[in-house]
Amino acid sequence: MEVKITPKGEGLTVLCLGAHADDIEIGCGGTLLQLKAKGYRLKFHWVVFSATGNRRAEACKAAEAITAGCEKEIVLKEFRDGFLPYRGAEVKDFFEQLKVVNPDLIFTHWSGDAHQDHRLVCELTWNTFRQHMILEYEIPKYDGDLGRPNVFFPIEKQCYEEKLRVLNDSFVSQSSKPWFETETFLGLMRLRGMESSSPTRYAEAFYSRKTVINLL
Ligand SMILES: [Zn+2]
Repeated sequence: MEVKITPKGEGLTVLCLGAHADDIEIGCGGTLLQLKAKGYRLKFHWVVFSATGNRRAEACKAAEAITAGCEKEIVLKEFRDGFLPYRGAEVKDFFEQLKVVNPDLIFTHWSGDAHQDHRLVCELTWNTFRQHMILEYEIPKYDGDLGRPNVFFPIEKQCYEEKLRVLNDSFVSQSSKPWFETETFLGLMRLRGMESSSPTRYAEAFYSRKTVINLL
């Protein structure tokens, strides 16, 4: 079954939420680039909760690259990495401010993610947005928390290669981490492409917790 995304009014407002500087790009960068490539007129509202030190400039560079040519608001907060749940009230206050965005589509972390910062962002996403389409993305990691996603976006070569380029070019500080490499990102997209019979062999995958089929 295919789901057609119908832009409301003039375009599609997309809210991208990531706990850390590279999360959005890893989790849904290919899908965002694919939406752009297919001609959707996107208006991005891009939020990174922990973008401090040199990771702030990296987050900015990557967000600008993914959203190039689109209307955008990029918000880089400076909550301490790893401590989001322990600053929960302040994070919740910020989510309250996001209600005015009223997006057509939201990308956020997966509720089953092993990282505490990721889980809090996911929890507050659902807590804040009650009538919105929310897709939860996945982040591969040492903890081995990958699950069984149920929404797949096939990605064309030009878009997944652009995603890899943005990750490698922007997040230089992460290059020393053994998991942060093209093979990791490409391998996961290849597996999700296999699971979705992607015509390009590659895909990104998401969790949709709730689907409303409105025929009224
Ligand atoms: Zn993260």
